[in-house]
Amino acid sequence: MTTSQSYNPYENMLQLLDSAADQLGLSPDDYISLRSPERELTVSFPVEMDDGHIEMFTGYRVQHSSSRGPCKGGLRYAPDVTIDEVKALAAWMTWKCAVVNIPYGGAKGAVRCDPSKLTKKELMQITRRYTAMILPLIGPEKDIPAPDLNTNADVMGWIMDTYSMFKGFCVPGVVTGKPIEIGGSLGRREATGSGVAFVTNEIAKKMNIDLTQSSAAIQGFGNVGQAAAYLLNKEGCRIVAISDISGSFYREEGLNIQDMIEYTNHHPHHLLEGYQAPGITTINNQDLLSLKVDFLIPAAKENQITSENAGKIQAKAIVEAANGPTTFNADTILNERNIIVVPDILANAGGVVVSYFEWVQNIQSLMWDENEVNDLLLKIMNKAFNEVWSLHMKYHSSLRMAAYMLALNRVVKAKKMRGIFP
Ligand code: GLU
Repeated sequence: MTTSQSYNPYENMLQLLDSAADQLGLSPDDYISLRSPERELTVSFPVEMDDGHIEMFTGYRVQHSSSRGPCKGGLRYAPDVTIDEVKALAAWMTWKCAVVNIPYGGAKGAVRCDPSKLTKKELMQITRRYTAMILPLIGPEKDIPAPDLNTNADVMGWIMDTYSMFKGFCVPGVVTGKPIEIGGSLGRREATGSGVAFVTNEIAKKMNIDLTQSSAAIQGFGNVGQAAAYLLNKEGCRIVAISDISGSFYREEGLNIQDMIEYTNHHPHHLLEGYQAPGITTINNQDLLSLKVDFLIPAAKENQITSENAGKIQAKAIVEAANGPTTFNADTILNERNIIVVPDILANAGGVVVSYFEWVQNIQSLMWDENEVNDLLLKIMNKAFNEVWSLHMKYHSSLRMAAYMLALNRVVKAKKMRGIFP
């Protein structure tokens, strides 16, 4: 049994892959190559810190699959990130891009560092040197990084500049999630949250839940959690609890999302630390996860809903805004308890969909307006949601298994059509 101590995200991904392959009746030859990433790069590099001393950093870039197109995936900064986490996240990008049927494979990158302890200049130096170290792997036609945990538009701008300096000309399509002024797309920042709000609406309809009478608890208040909270709240959903690494905030009558977003905008690390408002109590993270709400939205990181707490979840549905928040064993418990889970590779795919639009605009030197971006995003999310739902009905499988079957089928077909080199 996987406990939170022994949890390995890559093993978790393999368990899902093997069971989807089994359900699809695939032979090992059909998918064995998808059990390992195509490329893994580990880099070590020195950075001169503001006080003059030299510090060494470790970074990774993993490309899981390029069968359906260039590799695509975010870059995260975290002190405890491991290569197995990056490998799992890279594979999840392959499945995510295939579920929404955009022409990309999957990748992910990371640097082991704690951004809350770094100055902006140090962050920039780390980003530039990391970019230089992974330079042979990335490029608009090869592998395109984007924001993820603890990285943002500024970081993407520095990557674009560093890459462009090496090339000798401006290459906006090397990364997505950039500032709008240098080729970023309108709507990209909110895109993951918009997608989460969209699938929450769709699942509410399927479950006969009236969104205007519903409640939600959201774990994580970064870019994704904030946008999802804001949009769902705007549509009438009562957000009763929100957490970030500084604590969990609860108010049965509903939290004032706009006020909380503004508070984080003024906090040096964009946290809710010290947030106070009438009627608010603080609870702990486990309490938040087990609240009696319609929707539980984990929007932080992997390995949050485990076999240890899955039995205590009281939400009617879980919408996975984070990547890999539920372990394989927890998923089995949730299925047995008839708790619907809208899986990460569908629920949070809005971000990479608009990344795709950004890249398309960059390589064609076009600029779309925000309505164009949002209309096409909803069209793609809607199609993917319905395709996953149909498979779920046809095979009486969980939505996660249906999403994996849809994705794996597409990737395996692409592999077969291309054949094996040489
Ligand atoms: N990091 C985001 C994700 O996990 C976005 C990736 C991208 O836009 O390439 O989906």
